[in-house]
Amino acid sequence: MKKTAIIGAGPAGIEAASVLAGSGVEVLLFEKSETPLSNLKDKAFLFPDFSAASDMVSELEDKLLKDNITRCFGTEIVEIKWKGTEWQLVSGKSEAWYADSVLIATGYSTFDARRKEELGYGIYKGVVTSLEMEKMIREGNIVNGHGDMPKRIAFLQCVGSRDEKSGNHYCSKVCCVTAVKQAIEVRKQLPRTDLTVFYMDLRMWGQGFEEMYRTAQEKYGIDFIRGRISEAAATFDDRVQIKTEDTLLGMPLRTTVDLLVLMVGMEASAGTRTLGASCGIGGEYGFIKTISPHLYDNDTGKPGLFAAGTCKRPLSIWDSINDGRSAAIAIKDYLDTLP
Ligand SMILES: Cc1cc2nc3c(=O)[nH]c(=O)nc-3n(C[C@H](O)[C@H](O)[C@H](O)COP(=O)(O)OP(=O)(O)OC[C@H]3O[C@@H](n4cnc5c(N)ncnc54)[C@H](O)[C@@H]3O)c2cc1C
Ligand code: SF4
Repeated sequence: MKKTAIIGAGPAGIEAASVLAGSGVEVLLFEKSETPLSNLKDKAFLFPDFSAASDMVSELEDKLLKDNITRCFGTEIVEIKWKGTEWQLVSGKSEAWYADSVLIATGYSTFDARRKEELGYGIYKGVVTSLEMEKMIREGNIVNGHGDMPKRIAFLQCVGSRDEKSGNHYCSKVCCVTAVKQAIEVRKQLPRTDLTVFYMDLRMWGQGFEEMYRTAQEKYGIDFIRGRISEAAATFDDRVQIKTEDTLLGMPLRTTVDLLVLMVGMEASAGTRTLGASCGIGGEYGFIKTISPHLYDNDTGKPGLFAAGTCKRPLSIWDSINDGRSAAIAIKDYLDTLP
């Protein structure tokens, strides 16, 4: 039986593992955490349909219940080497495995908001990230720095994306719609809280997104202001004073909120950067480079070495799952050419 190693048990890696195993390939699935889907388990509800992330986790975990998938969880792969006829994978504990082909599906991590010092994350109690907001929504416990119900919440887009200072010029693709999703979820839990989203542009690219944005304004009374927050400062009672400009009206604004939510962008994960560099396929911003975004978007140009999901660029969950499926087809085609 031909063998494929998949690195990363996120949505992309799991979907690829399931499709390959279903077509008779032996799969070794590596995941650095003790359990799969860490970047899904920290979400509450999913755009665009507001389904529970926990349901998606169960469905994806069920796909792993196949005899020819060996789960190597708690194993971080730090190096991949071509050995002439097969690939060698080496873990952080210097253990080695061999496979006919390898799929890198090591995903993303979020921008460290501390790098935008002027926004006060890690300094002021009332400044949180979108990941922390996901957790508060999931636990039904949306509170300010003192543990009280917030009366005013602001969401700030493009933190660590489309930003000269942080060096990330690209758009992270999912944070506009995530802000709309989170604002609606907050409104459902806190009907009287004042909610404002500060944006550069609203990139509602997917099916149903524009309707979500309209519903957020018309049904849930969420305000959207075009403008970037240039500075945040704490008040004596741990609220957050923000300085911005309404760029549509050309008016400077200064306002105080109980919570400022920073919509942090997606970056290549540490695993993506390490493995991309280890086999010479690291591209811009540390994401994995493929031959072409059109016909060969899973092929790295190295024999039997493929990539899928957000290790290549920011993507949604369904983009990542579809990409894992497409990588599985490319891998099967490759394996069929081997003696
Ligand atoms: C705040 C926020 C909210 C979001 N909400 C939504 C939403 O509502 N709907 C939606 O469609 N998308 C949403 N997303 C995007 C979604 O999280 C991603 O699209 C999805 O997780 C990408 O899947 P992936 O398999 O490419 O990567 P990941 O989910 O990042 O999985 C990669 C896996 O690889 C593992 N790994 C990394 N390096 C190694 C290594 N060296 N060895 C072994 N294992 C390794 C990681 O531990 C991880 O489990 C959101 C993102 C953010 C930041
Ligand atoms: S998706 Fe929206 S918030 Fe995220 S980087 Fe792009 S424009 Fe900014």
